[in-house]
Amino acid sequence: MGLVVQKFGGTSVADAERITAAARRAIRAKLAGHQVVVVVSAMGHTTDELVNLAYQITENPPKREMDMLLSTGEQISIALVAMAIHKIGHDAISMTGGQVGLYTDSAHTKARIKQINAERIFKHLKAGRIVIVAGFQGVTEEGDITTLGRGGSDTTAVALAAALQAERCEIYTDVNGIYTADPRIVPKARKLDRISYDEILELASLGAGVMHSRSIEFGKKYRVPIHVRSSLTDEPGTMICEETTDMEDIAVRGATVNKNLARLTLMGVPDRRGVAARIFQAVAEGNVVVDDIIQNPLPDNRANISFTVALSDFNEAKAIADNLNQEIGGLGVVYDDQVAKVSVVGVGMRSHTGVAAKMFQALAEAKVNIQNISTSEIKISCIVARDEADDALRRIHSAFALDAEDEA
Ligand code: ADP
Ligand code: ASP
Ligand code: MG
Repeated sequence: MGLVVQKFGGTSVADAERITAAARRAIRAKLAGHQVVVVVSAMGHTTDELVNLAYQITENPPKREMDMLLSTGEQISIALVAMAIHKIGHDAISMTGGQVGLYTDSAHTKARIKQINAERIFKHLKAGRIVIVAGFQGVTEEGDITTLGRGGSDTTAVALAAALQAERCEIYTDVNGIYTADPRIVPKARKLDRISYDEILELASLGAGVMHSRSIEFGKKYRVPIHVRSSLTDEPGTMICEETTDMEDIAVRGATVNKNLARLTLMGVPDRRGVAARIFQAVAEGNVVVDDIIQNPLPDNRANISFTVALSDFNEAKAIADNLNQEIGGLGVVYDDQVAKVSVVGVGMRSHTGVAAKMFQALAEAKVNIQNISTSEIKISCIVARDEADDALRRIHSAFALDAEDEA
């Protein structure tokens, strides 16, 4: 039997009882003949509390120190899970990201994994131990601790599964699997038995917090079968797998909303060659990730250029936009930090027509104004006012018959 990686999210290690349950699950897999690597998140809301603490000290915490602070959450849970396994009478060892040789770049608070040296893990597995790895964290070549972005333990788990050539990666969380939409916002959302890498990658990038989007990039690239399931039951959850032809039968697999967005508009920038290049070069140099870009021509050879960014990058983006406005002779900058994006996703969109029309109709019936539209082969997204976003999502969900009661 092969190696399995089991990842337990914050709720699944929230207290001593849940930690013991996670330990038991790992032991069960070991007794079934697997080699077992466990990846854990920080307990409960620990990471949020640490973030909060930092902002009580300063509104602008240095990112390196933020990583030093946030990585402590996972260090607590790995030690406790290892202790729980020992207590039940099995051998386990806890390891930090640095100790397992998980190397990242130095983009503190959103570092990317560059390399994993799996030898130390293999050595302990061979010795019969369950290896407990701290999720969400890595180390730079210089030895500085980094973190992979909020929700990043999923990425640690799938990247390790790829590096160790695991048979599968099991993601244990507080829902029964991946749903047609976030069940907290859409109570009628339905659990999916299967979803393709491309679909969950789009959904995760567009705001579905159930999986860290970078984890799916690893899963897809290295073909890691990922099983997302509840840590409270033994019910099967959702399999993230390669696309099969019958997946195109349904136009829309799921819907999602991203409420952590802000939009900046550079007004009346001179409409000439090289201006857009200059703007987005400056934004990239500030390490700000741009979401959508919209350019509208104006009279007098000028244009409005809008772009959306994550709310967490808003302050940095604002400073960059103000500087750019001066530099390129624009007519001012307008901000809106009250926007959201609702999206529908499905590989079936490649072969079904009328998906956009149906989505716009649902939004019109909900009296929601569409501020911008963007599409790809397998998704359609609309920017809307944030306070209308949840209702918009529910309306769209019903319009595409994703509601549980419509399943026949
Ligand atoms: P963990 O701590 O286990 O990583 P997360 O809070 O990161 O858990 O992710 C699980 C949560 O993701 C669920 O409680 C749910 O509210 C949210 N979620 C968002 N979109 C979806 C979706 N499409 N399907 C299931 N859960 C979703
Ligand atoms: N503890 C980290 C967070 O809350 C990482 C994770 O849970 O995946 O974002
Ligand atoms: Mg998570």
